[in-house]
Amino acid sequence: MAILTAAKLKDIILAMAKRIEQEKDFLTELDNAIGDGDHGINLARGFKAVEGKLAGVEAQDCGEILKTTGMQLVSTVGGASGPLYGTAFMKAGVALKGKGELEAADLLTGLEAAIGGIKMRGKATEGEKTMLDALCPAFNALKTGLDSGQDIKAALVEAVHAAEKGVEYTKTIIATKGRASYLGERSLGHQDPGATSSLYLLQVLQQEI
Ligand code: ADP
Ligand code: MG
Repeated sequence: MAILTAAKLKDIILAMAKRIEQEKDFLTELDNAIGDGDHGINLARGFKAVEGKLAGVEAQDCGEILKTTGMQLVSTVGGASGPLYGTAFMKAGVALKGKGELEAADLLTGLEAAIGGIKMRGKATEGEKTMLDALCPAFNALKTGLDSGQDIKAALVEAVHAAEKGVEYTKTIIATKGRASYLGERSLGHQDPGATSSLYLLQVLQQEI
């Protein structure tokens, strides 16, 4: 059973752009504490460009919409998170190429491809205080929920809970990737900006479906 059309996917990405714009000061504040204070500004700039570009894309192919989003993020977001989020959306786009609508299982396929892209590009894994600490638990919860027969809405609520816990967990660990890794133990106690922005993207997905 289809859970969303290409047109709806486009609306969801536009809603993500709005949310990132709303949260940009807070994300930047988080990045001020353990990075260089540009995460919110970076992402908001990228998603603004995505908004402009998506306006000219026909909402027929989910893969195309995701690929366009990823390419815009790579080319407009400075810093580590541009190539990482860009690769994530592009990989999801390749995995869902040609699909006019998506089923729940496609969401898992897309999210898995996105996470694979981040791991490859960032040479990172869970537990390193990055966006993966929100995305991986969310994926696992979504998969567990769907496998056990939950509907997509219920499974996404579980996924967002898991991502929230993941963000909290980043406060308790030392960063070993990205700029925050330069701080060593001083990164303790701070929540990771990238995990936080990933949580916001997942929250939008959950609210919109
Ligand atoms: P920069 O660190 O270059 O200024 P941003 O501030 O935009 O880039 O993004 C920082 C976020 O990127 C971090 O909070 C972390 O979640 C994520 N990140 C950084 N390096 C990696 C990596 N190698 N793998 C996965 N995520 C990473
Ligand atoms: Mg930064």
